[in-house]
Amino acid sequence: MAFGQPRIEYKSNSEILKMREAGLVLAEALDEAVAAAKPGVTTASLNEIFGKVLERHNATSNFLGYHGFPANICASVNHEVVHGFPSDYVLKDGDVLKIDGGAIVDGWHADSARTVLVGENIDPEDKRLSEITEQAMWAGIAAAAKARFVGQIGEAIDDYVTSQPGDELGILEDYCGHGIGSAMHMAPDVLNYNAGHRGPRIKPGMALAIEPMLVRGDIETSVLEDDWTVVTNDKSNASQWEHTVAFTMGGVWVLTAHDGGAAGLAPFGVEPSPILP
Ligand code: MG
Ligand code: MG
Repeated sequence: MAFGQPRIEYKSNSEILKMREAGLVLAEALDEAVAAAKPGVTTASLNEIFGKVLERHNATSNFLGYHGFPANICASVNHEVVHGFPSDYVLKDGDVLKIDGGAIVDGWHADSARTVLVGENIDPEDKRLSEITEQAMWAGIAAAAKARFVGQIGEAIDDYVTSQPGDELGILEDYCGHGIGSAMHMAPDVLNYNAGHRGPRIKPGMALAIEPMLVRGDIETSVLEDDWTVVTNDKSNASQWEHTVAFTMGGVWVLTAHDGGAAGLAPFGVEPSPILP
């Protein structure tokens, strides 16, 4: 998403450690919401489960009340891409659910999203969509570890997606990743495609939410009358995966992954570079 503040915020080590606390709470809250996302369950109940984990850790939601957003998570199903409301919608076998959530600890934010393939009867093309979106996120994070400019993240995501065999997936251009820290959405924008410009220089102390959104069809989207829910115009299914990543002296640290990104980065020959408390 494109959000105002042009100045990039650089975090101290102790501030990044606070963001890590928020990231770990968020990872646990997403674990529980994802585990509960079964056929027959409402998306509102996932919102409650997520909120209880935040409460348990004295963390707060950065989604609830954000420009009037009514919930702790976005729950977007099938052709809904992002920003869907949790509701009394009952999940069905084969649904493609995106859960996007955030947490604040001591004023420091984390933001992360996962795609859940609900139940057993999954369309193989939806499975492929989610897998390529998740791997594209990791390709972007791995590239970030060695990149000099923010634009190289989108290039890596774009290269990964377009190099996959089979039907080419669409990369949404209307929405993008973002800087994060003392607020959820900060400068700079982190595009998910090769925009042909390098963007700001990457420096230690930056933190970015990297969040590719891919679709099986055309990339044109609309916002529903609720003023939030983003849907694909051709009703094709969408996937979103997101992590909050901090730049440290040695590379990247994935704040919203329990292992700091070790497993996701390993196939790219990259190790996370955590800050030691
Ligand atoms: Mg998010
Ligand atoms: Mg985000």
